[in-house]
Amino acid sequence: MFDISRKKAFVCDLDGTLFMGPDPIAPAVDFVIRGTKSGRFKFFYLTNNTSKCPAEYLRKISGAAIPVSEDQILTPLITLEAYIREKGFKSVYLIAGENVKAHMAARLSDAEVSLDYDPERNELIALAYDKELTYAKLARAAELWNMRNRPPSPMCPVRTKNQTPVEFVATHPDNCCPGERGPIPDIGGMMKLLETTNGMKPGRVFGKPSPTLLAPVLAQFAPEEIAVVGDRLYTDKAIADNAGVDFVCVLSGETTRGDLAAYKGTPPAIVVETFDKVESKENP
Ligand SMILES: [Mg+2]
Repeated sequence: MFDISRKKAFVCDLDGTLFMGPDPIAPAVDFVIRGTKSGRFKFFYLTNNTSKCPAEYLRKISGAAIPVSEDQILTPLITLEAYIREKGFKSVYLIAGENVKAHMAARLSDAEVSLDYDPERNELIALAYDKELTYAKLARAAELWNMRNRPPSPMCPVRTKNQTPVEFVATHPDNCCPGERGPIPDIGGMMKLLETTNGMKPGRVFGKPSPTLLAPVLAQFAPEEIAVVGDRLYTDKAIADNAGVDFVCVLSGETTRGDLAAYKGTPPAIVVETFDKVESKENP
């Protein structure tokens, strides 16, 4: 049974939950504004999209009149930064747009981490949702993997002096990104392209449904005080299930009542038309 009186933190998906494309879903956004201003709840904002920086989401959310600060935005770029620090990497080949590269360079400026391609020094290949992806970037990733992670062969006569295997991670698993004209390629196809080339596969994939994205929330609240709110069962509900927290399913986005009827997993803690209905008396 979903008990809103026990909740202190809501982790909100954006598209389909608080926004429909660029437009706010008014009743849901009003609920978030009221809950923030009264101090009743703390809200976090969850996105897998690593083609944008947290500052860009900050602008979008504050543009809907929601009071918000950067520590409330959860993106896999936070997990990637934490991973680079935890492993002590100093040389990362980051495949990302220039905006995201600049953001990561600023975040990691105290740790003296290079984010450029350097076949002798790179310790990690990190793939983000790079909307400026080029053939050269993909070819370098494959070559780095060939020279460092595959056994010497006549097919690959050029080797690096450094023969320590390079790690490969991806920021999130999404195959497509919803667009106004339907699905467009996301990072999933980029991973597939590399895998098809030489078998390279990421050792770790951050982002939904990996619960590591919720680490900053779980550090501040007990699992029973948290709920994830979203419109997708296979990402938003999956991250809630993986983190052991309640899931509020909204019908303002992708999931329909028909999808829920056909869904074989454990049902969401509560199903509402829009997020604000979570406190309605009709939902015991
Ligand atoms: Mg969504």
